[in-house]
Amino acid sequence: MTPQPTAPASGAADLAAGLRPLFAERAGRVDTAGDFPADNLDALRASGLMGLLVPTGYGGGGGGVGDLAEAARIMAGGCLSTAMIWAMHCQQVDALVRHATPELRDELLPRVARGEVYIASVTTEAGKGGRLTSAEAALEHTGATLALHRDAPVVTGGEHADGYLVTMREAPDAPDSRVSLVYADRDLTKTEVYGSWNALGMRGTRSVGMRLSANVPVRNVVGGPGAFRAVATDSMIAVGHIAWAACWLGAAQSAFGQVVSLLRSPNRPRSVDPRSDLTTERLGRTRMDLELVGAYLHQVTAEVARHREQGLSIDTPPVQIHLNTLKVTAAELTYAAVDRLVQLCGLSVGYSKDSAVPLERHLRDLRSAALNYSNDRLLTATGSLALLDRSVRLA
Ligand SMILES: Cc1cc2nc3c(=O)[nH]c(=O)nc-3n(C[C@H](O)[C@H](O)[C@H](O)COP(=O)(O)OP(=O)(O)OC[C@H]3O[C@@H](n4cnc5c(N)ncnc54)[C@H](O)[C@@H]3O)c2cc1C
Repeated sequence: MTPQPTAPASGAADLAAGLRPLFAERAGRVDTAGDFPADNLDALRASGLMGLLVPTGYGGGGGGVGDLAEAARIMAGGCLSTAMIWAMHCQQVDALVRHATPELRDELLPRVARGEVYIASVTTEAGKGGRLTSAEAALEHTGATLALHRDAPVVTGGEHADGYLVTMREAPDAPDSRVSLVYADRDLTKTEVYGSWNALGMRGTRSVGMRLSANVPVRNVVGGPGAFRAVATDSMIAVGHIAWAACWLGAAQSAFGQVVSLLRSPNRPRSVDPRSDLTTERLGRTRMDLELVGAYLHQVTAEVARHREQGLSIDTPPVQIHLNTLKVTAAELTYAAVDRLVQLCGLSVGYSKDSAVPLERHLRDLRSAALNYSNDRLLTATGSLALLDRSVRLA
């Protein structure tokens, strides 16, 4: 029997808006304790949003990158950690939808659509740091299965995941640029958590270190042996940059909205005069930063959606430059926006953990944006790509 769609794409924004107050209520506790927001994940599973990007034929929502960006932005206004957990899961789902073998798709996607499978990402490796398209640990071919032993120093929600998408060197004799992406189901994987996630911000993501060991069927290689680069370019990078930018924008937008409400209320700090030029200039600049990120996010999301609809490759210098620019710009401007709000509000509202507006949490959370994935790596890649695009085709 074909499962019924659980979360039609057209309703994704409404579902996210329905969950947002619940996420907002729990965000402070999740941050203080550094706890994974398990209740929020349960709510996401029940909502059908875990299968937003799964095609309707598999029982999913059949959503696209626009639906993903909008739902992520809304959710992040409640809890950035939860929104990023969901956004990164959707990134993995998109790679499976577009590049998994038919057998793996048939087996896994209906389960994802039903909210049964939360998928974590394993790309970072101790020796290579954040370099996405290289790998050290190698798959070992053992007849019909592939043996996987992987040290994974940063796995968001790794303790709670039901499956992992893991980058591995194709074989022991393959160069580190021959990377395979492999799906490992939690039930068939031995996992050992090491270290803790006691980070400055994004504390609710519980991005712990793990060791994973599994024997996976050959059909679980996503995109073909050694072909991860194509999966990353077509899906993971594009969807990641769009969804992360949307999350960061949602958090900064929510902070800005709360500050505006506070300044218009009788509870505003006595030291802040909303009519002073200093205050209005800061508000103006912050609003401008959010406008720029929002407009660029909209533009680049539409560009990727258009390419997908028309069956065109996004592996071109201009589109990849636009995607990198989106990630770096969103990381820089949303952090700068919240930093400016801290200055505007002053010590008690801007810097205190007990403030009615959680600016200090947003500031700590958004500091991670430039590191996840390193802005430096993207800027140097963008510079190299720029040399290949003599037409200078801007977004
Ligand atoms: C909240 C959060 C969640 C995460 N979740 C996951 C997850 O689920 N799974 C996962 O696999 N990973 C995850 N990561 C890791 C992430 O994907 C990156 O791998 C990681 O943030 C990069 O860390 P890094 O800055 O130490 O490493 P690198 O990117 O290796 O950078 C190391 C240093 O090299 C510098 N550098 C980079 N490029 C150049 C250059 N061209 N020239 C000179 N210096 C350069 C950087 O500035 C930096 O100082 C997460 C990270 C965060 C913050």
